Amino acid sequence: MPKTITQNLPSYLDSENPGPWAIFLEQVDRVAPYLGDLGKWLDTLKHPERSLIVDVPVRLDDGSIAHFEGYRVQHSLNRGPGKGGVRYHQDVTLSEVMALSAWMSVKTAVVGLPFGGAKGGIRVDPRKYSAGEVERITRRYTNEISSIIGVNKDIPGPDVNTNAQTMAWMMDTYSMHAGTTQPGIVTGKPIPLGGSLGRVEATGRGVFIVGVAAAKDAGINLTGARVSIQGFGNVGGTAARLFSEVGAKIVAVQDHTGTIADPNGLDVEALLTHVKQTGGVGGAANTTAIAADEFWAIETDILIPAALEGQITKHNADTVQARIIVEGANGPTTPEADDIMTAKGIVIVPDVLANAGGVTVSYFEWVQNSSSFYWTVEEINERLEKIMLDAYHALTATAAEHEVSLRTAAFITACTRILETRELRGLYP
Ligand code: GLU
Repeated sequence: MPKTITQNLPSYLDSENPGPWAIFLEQVDRVAPYLGDLGKWLDTLKHPERSLIVDVPVRLDDGSIAHFEGYRVQHSLNRGPGKGGVRYHQDVTLSEVMALSAWMSVKTAVVGLPFGGAKGGIRVDPRKYSAGEVERITRRYTNEISSIIGVNKDIPGPDVNTNAQTMAWMMDTYSMHAGTTQPGIVTGKPIPLGGSLGRVEATGRGVFIVGVAAAKDAGINLTGARVSIQGFGNVGGTAARLFSEVGAKIVAVQDHTGTIADPNGLDVEALLTHVKQTGGVGGAANTTAIAADEFWAIETDILIPAALEGQITKHNADTVQARIIVEGANGPTTPEADDIMTAKGIVIVPDVLANAGGVTVSYFEWVQNSSSFYWTVEEINERLEKIMLDAYHALTATAAEHEVSLRTAAFITACTRILETRELRGLYP
């Protein structure tokens, strides 16, 4: 492990589990040899520009007061305003939000959006709180981060456990203070409030678009191709539907409620309905439950990790039987696992490209808000497809040129784009 990682380890993480920020640092170190003279700016990427920790005190329904810790990190603002989601999860830490914000910088640069990278989060399990409590948590958090966000400064969006309703509350809270409705302050809003058509399914659609392109390059025929998916929320569920619509079989699905498999293909529509009704795939009718750790070893053509980070590690990477992996989640694969699977010939379409569909349509939403002119869903999906495919083909060309993985190619492209702007802007003062 390179020295920089050990030096930057937060005290609560050990070298066995260095955490997402250390993983990001290692990913950056890996591209240093490819950056030429721009490499002198590399350390910029190892220091988020601004990190804010806020206290979120909230009155609960029983009258007591609870405190939650919230974060907003702006990793890089060189290429434009900060952009990135807000995550509600009991495991959110500053270090995690730093990594997620850095991956947003890389992601927006890979697909060429005029944004930097940012991310926010609150350490809370929203399932344990009523809708009213979650609304109060959201509004107070928005108020606390309002000094650093702005329509042209930093634009939050949805992420794990946040949705269009969360974005509506954020937009309303910010607008109340501004004294005027500010739709462009967040993306992923409900359609009547200036949300974009196609945004809800955009991340899953992007996974599907690059998954189809990668399958074609790997000689996989989609008719009857086996697909397994971890996570069956917005991203995994949409990807499952789109892949099954073109004749692929969803052979296994895992989420926090269970793992189910069927070599003949699961009934995706029935599963989506079950998840809507119960909150997870566990216990779905006519499915066979399997042990959680058997999921990764299932023989499949396309594996889509679409849940949380750190899922494929050196402990399970060797058991993975997929031909291609399309990373719907952010950071699902550790660098060691990346090496093990790449050595086995598995093609990994990295998160910073594979799940960029969400932020791409968020960009479309922000553009529509600023012009107050709204596009059709056909226009959105067509533009999304072009951006995703252009980025995919550019990365495969870079990967071939340098004989590196798609992830390293993505980091070469993104770091070059970010550091170019760093150099052009110069160091202030
Ligand atoms: N949460 C999404 C991601 O990880 C993007 C959120 C946004 O649209 O800003 O890419």
